[in-house]
Amino acid sequence: MKLEKAAAVIVIITGLLDLVLRLSTGAWLILSWVVAVYDFIISVPFLPPILTLILGFAAGLHLGVRVGAADSSTSSGSVGMPNRIYGCLEINDVLWKARADLSNLSVSRLYVESEPYCPECNTVLDGDTVYKSAARQTNIWECANCGFRTERESDTKNKAERIVERHFRQITTNQDEDYAYGNLMEKIEEDDREVTGESIWNEYVSTVDDEYLSTDCFV
Ligand SMILES: [Zn+2]
Repeated sequence: MKLEKAAAVIVIITGLLDLVLRLSTGAWLILSWVVAVYDFIISVPFLPPILTLILGFAAGLHLGVRVGAADSSTSSGSVGMPNRIYGCLEINDVLWKARADLSNLSVSRLYVESEPYCPECNTVLDGDTVYKSAARQTNIWECANCGFRTERESDTKNKAERIVERHFRQITTNQDEDYAYGNLMEKIEEDDREVTGESIWNEYVSTVDDEYLSTDCFV
């Protein structure tokens, strides 16, 4: 038994020695090859600067591609989700255009245009005051393009802001409802349409029943 053990140890040690020798010979071979290539490169005039240029260009390309990839991955909070949704309301016969800037899928900034638009021709309306008599005056919205006129109520912009904020919040904070952004985007893509800040709103309006919702701003 002892003899067999000793023989086994000798075989293992011989094998290891052989492996180390082979590896070191290989290393020396590679090293001598590298030295030979290096000798060749520096012996040829103009080759070192040309190789440096080529290596520098390759390194630049590699870094450029990596920087480009990093840039595109930071621009969006969710895959395919636009970072802006547009909204449109019709209140007292006139159209209010709104916009929600999104950051990490929540509304970071809400914006409603200060003047409403004409429901007939989509032109910005002028606010005016009409005097029916010295004692009676009426505030109106008037379209310079088509002549549309309607009575102007005070504070409609504030009303538009409150209403549209609620709708933008509904789109962005829910996950399971039909009007959640994920489901709206899915429906748009199913119809082979492009997912944009406007198409999300249009899809939302066709999903939700609300008296002020409109899509006429985007025609
Ligand atoms: Zn008009």
